[in-house]
Amino acid sequence: MRILVQKFGGSSVADLECMKKVRGKVLAAREEGYKVVVVLSARYGQTNSLLERAYQWSDEPDLAELDVLLTTGEQESVALFSMLLQDAGVKARSFLGFQIPIVTDDAFGSARIDSISADFIRKAFETYDVIVMAGFQGRTKDMRLTTLGRGGSDTSAVAIAAALGDGTICDIYTDVDGVYTTDPRVCKEAHKMDKVSYEEMLEMASMGAKVLQIRSVEIAEKFNVPVRVRSTFSNDPGTLVTKEDNMMESVLVSGIAFDKDQARVTLCDVQDRPGSAAGIFSKLGDAGIVVDMIIQTASRNGVTDIAFTVSRKDLKRTIEVLESQDCGCSKIESAQSIAKVSVIGVGMRNHSGVASRVFDTLYKAGINVIMISTSEVKISCLINEADLNLAVNTLHQAFEL
Ligand code: ADP
Ligand code: ASP
Ligand code: MG
Repeated sequence: MRILVQKFGGSSVADLECMKKVRGKVLAAREEGYKVVVVLSARYGQTNSLLERAYQWSDEPDLAELDVLLTTGEQESVALFSMLLQDAGVKARSFLGFQIPIVTDDAFGSARIDSISADFIRKAFETYDVIVMAGFQGRTKDMRLTTLGRGGSDTSAVAIAAALGDGTICDIYTDVDGVYTTDPRVCKEAHKMDKVSYEEMLEMASMGAKVLQIRSVEIAEKFNVPVRVRSTFSNDPGTLVTKEDNMMESVLVSGIAFDKDQARVTLCDVQDRPGSAAGIFSKLGDAGIVVDMIIQTASRNGVTDIAFTVSRKDLKRTIEVLESQDCGCSKIESAQSIAKVSVIGVGMRNHSGVASRVFDTLYKAGINVIMISTSEVKISCLINEADLNLAVNTLHQAFEL
């Protein structure tokens, strides 16, 4: 039995017209002889509007109830789509995450998959030709519903492909033709890549390219799942996300990603003594706040400034945590109109000079760099959000992408 996993995102299932295009892709796979696991997202905008509603009803919605609410978005999609398939004479059936089951931990809102079995799906294929599975959702071992974090349907799809094994391919259908050198909506010069390595894709996703959820790439790499990113609205072969090969390493920079979900906090005049930073960041860690870039200025008269970035949604809580303890600083400042731009490429490991080219390019474009962080395969700069489009476009040009 040849099985193909096809995942369709929110814009692909937005309305009846779009869903008919999705049906065309599924029928084409059937014609090629595949049994198909179709993984669907909620229709475009639905998850956001459910979230908005929750916050109209409650100032601080219970996270477990929020997940019960959010999973309805995907439930609607799979039921409607199964009807469409059945009308075309396809033996199809919808299943929700808890029926598969996709068992997760109990981190409501961003649950991680603990186990997922392909047995149920293999058995269901004795009766059906297409299984339509709700993305983004699972259940805890105590049978509470969970969601896998924004963009989580990508992870559902890759995880089920990994569980099916045998090199099962996972096609991620979206509203662009594949993975581009940068977001094609921001840079008109961006071009589609035929191939990208798991490692680069992971960096791009981590640095803000939301075309694939980070966790889906982690699972794909771990279980060696071939992932193809393609468009529901064209016949382009898309981008293959796969293992790194020698060719890839010869490319210095392969992409530019950006993230507007950044807020900066500065603690002024922190006592420059052992334990200061540990005290501050352990409290934030205990509160579950993820800190990204950190910078500490040189000591002056026994004090220093410590600045760091967090997700915008965590800013209020970060300040609350900091104010509730004595961080030994004179004042706490914050800024939200900032963004992070990152230059990514596995080829950077063996080449020098990328950082200076990044800084020089930004300088010549009149863009101020607020913070910097680097890894083996990326360089990230924090800049003013107003400069973001210019930064992405000039860097794209400077690295001849
Ligand atoms: P879906 O609803 O199908 O899951 P998403 O909105 O999550 O779609 O992801 C697709 C979007 O990702 C594209 O519309 C594009 O704007 C954005 N994107 C960001 N960076 C890239 C990139 N490097 N290549 C392709 N798309 C990108
Ligand atoms: N519907 C969820 C979201 O909007 C999951 C997904 O689309 O992947 O984040
Ligand atoms: Mg998505």
